Amino acid sequence: MDDRNGWGRDRPVPAGSPHQPPESFVEQANVTDEAIDEKFEENWPECWERAAGSLSWDEPFDTVLEDGDAPLYRWFAGGKLNASFNCVDRHLEADRKTHAAIRWEGKHGERETYTYRDLYVAVNELAAALRELDVEEDDVVTIYLPMIPELPIAMLACARIGAPHNVVFAGLSADALAARMDAADSEFLITCDGYYRRGDAFNQKGKADNARLSLEADVRTVVVDHLGADLPHVLGDDEYDYHDLREEFAGRTVDPVPRDAEDMLFLMYTSGTTGEPKGVVHTTGGYLAHVAWTSHAVLDVKPEDTYWCAADIGWITGHSYIVYGPLALGTTTVMYEGTPDYPDRDRLWEIVDRNAVDVFYTAPTAIRAFMKWGEQYPASHDLSSLRLLGTVGEPISPRPWNWYRERVGGGCPVVDTWWQTETGAMMLSTLPGIDEMKPGAAGPALPGIEARVVDETGADVAAGEAGYLTITRPWPGMARTLYDGDDRYRAEYWEPFSDPETGDWRYFSGDTASIDEDGYVTVLGRVDDVITVSGRRLSTMEIESAITDVAGVAESAVVGRSSDREGTEIYAYVSTEGGFEPTDDIRDAIVDSVGGAIGPVATPHEIVFTPELPKTRSGKIMRRLLEDIVNGEELEDTSALRNPEIVGEIQTGREE
Ligand code: ATP
Ligand code: MG
Repeated sequence: MDDRNGWGRDRPVPAGSPHQPPESFVEQANVTDEAIDEKFEENWPECWERAAGSLSWDEPFDTVLEDGDAPLYRWFAGGKLNASFNCVDRHLEADRKTHAAIRWEGKHGERETYTYRDLYVAVNELAAALRELDVEEDDVVTIYLPMIPELPIAMLACARIGAPHNVVFAGLSADALAARMDAADSEFLITCDGYYRRGDAFNQKGKADNARLSLEADVRTVVVDHLGADLPHVLGDDEYDYHDLREEFAGRTVDPVPRDAEDMLFLMYTSGTTGEPKGVVHTTGGYLAHVAWTSHAVLDVKPEDTYWCAADIGWITGHSYIVYGPLALGTTTVMYEGTPDYPDRDRLWEIVDRNAVDVFYTAPTAIRAFMKWGEQYPASHDLSSLRLLGTVGEPISPRPWNWYRERVGGGCPVVDTWWQTETGAMMLSTLPGIDEMKPGAAGPALPGIEARVVDETGADVAAGEAGYLTITRPWPGMARTLYDGDDRYRAEYWEPFSDPETGDWRYFSGDTASIDEDGYVTVLGRVDDVITVSGRRLSTMEIESAITDVAGVAESAVVGRSSDREGTEIYAYVSTEGGFEPTDDIRDAIVDSVGGAIGPVATPHEIVFTPELPKTRSGKIMRRLLEDIVNGEELEDTSALRNPEIVGEIQTGREE
């Protein structure tokens, strides 16, 4: 690659050898029309009617896209629909009452199945109770629940009465909960007594109580008694027991409120990987159309499938692909409360085996952990039911991608899906029944989406060069704004690459990427994840990918240390697979691999072995913390991490 825009590197990341979708998959795939891209292209934006057409509308929309107030776009304006009706009621009408909607697997082996009929009853009863508690249309209801069935039930009950939900990840602190309720002006809360964390009963209600104390408004609270006698609790003023409410409103139904397509369905925060989390607003029609369509086209979900997205509903992935997408399609969605290593490291494979899961969707951080633990765990179960695998959340380098495909999927197709809290649904991915897969590259923009990789001036970069990942047209699932208001939304996502004068609006993702001759995009990381060494701009992801190519390496994170004398030095934090001791041989192999893939300029100055890397609650590597450590900066509050203890270990290691 040349140095035209200063991103120089010697050659593109080898994306690994491509794979064709197996014939047996293609034969049954939901989408196999090879001309689908052109069809969307020729007929844009009306092509999106196809996605919206899979939903049940109370009133048809007048226009597909209104762009008069760009970048504040409106999709399917004039149309009315209800998300809870689309995810529940219409499957009863389609005679699927006894079909399983949710299969829940508890931490200690408990199991519950909700048929669509059971889900209908639960959602209606809670919706009736919420109304009785004075929740009105457009009131924001905060939900602070772990992965228990009451979480999607609460979301759907809110959607039924037109009350936007604001789900806060259960592991976040009382302060984070209070801040999120405050920002959303939310005076209603649904939480629980507690849940098991590493074997102990953890008091969730205590956190909720603390949050309520710091809020000015009185907060009506519904409490799910999840742990029973294991964690007794008392209800105070304005607090109601979920099961009592269900009993009181047993058998009650509530007509789903027809919502304008552009009415808010929910609020949701980003993961906070690059800084303060951003609060994002999603609306009803476009969002639901986009998640339903991508569940069908990319995840290949069929109503008769058992589908499992092993994410947490407290993040966007769970909203879109545990709850709304799969339930809109009437499939069976699996929900798992526990962790992948309890009681043993084969827990997920045991669940896949027992439920004969057809489609499995998880994150690279989990895949790298599976690889670290060893192939004996997936090998000890029958995983032959799996037809398709997916990944989302971070770039995945070719070695873990191939490991996942072979050791878990037995050679089935893998879709690497790039999207964001702000995009609502998938944006880049292969279509598994049509496209060749290139390990390491997410894939082309999906039909109806247009992605461009550009330099600072907004000009397309040449194939293989690194640049900024932008989206040139609006899409139905897009965030409509931020809680902080339209100004920040425009400034953060639209201003960097748009030209309002000419009406050329471009969405800026904040990620860097490269694009190949076939239009396949390899996401390289965040704009900030670039290290300049001797005037060369190196992407951390590229260096990390070369490091994880080394046999025995499970994960790595690369950061820069700036020193006046030496310029910038590269520090590589590396964790190894189970059974691999961090040795000088691995060190040498890492240096060789980086040198071979990128050039000596990218050679790490120091390679530090660590049992784990610091991760956000949604499982992403937090490079900025490591960067602060190597630069001797004061560390920000680490309590929001998944594994705060590792930061101390890494710091002590540096001081010694
Ligand atoms: P914050 O915006 O608060 O820093 P975040 O960006 O991690 O947090 P999310 O919306 O959960 O919050 O994550 C979206 C980001 O995750 C993308 O911008 C991208 O960097 C990364 N990502 C998601 N999927 C993929 C993928 N398939 N390949 C590469 N990166 C991905
Ligand atoms: Mg982000």
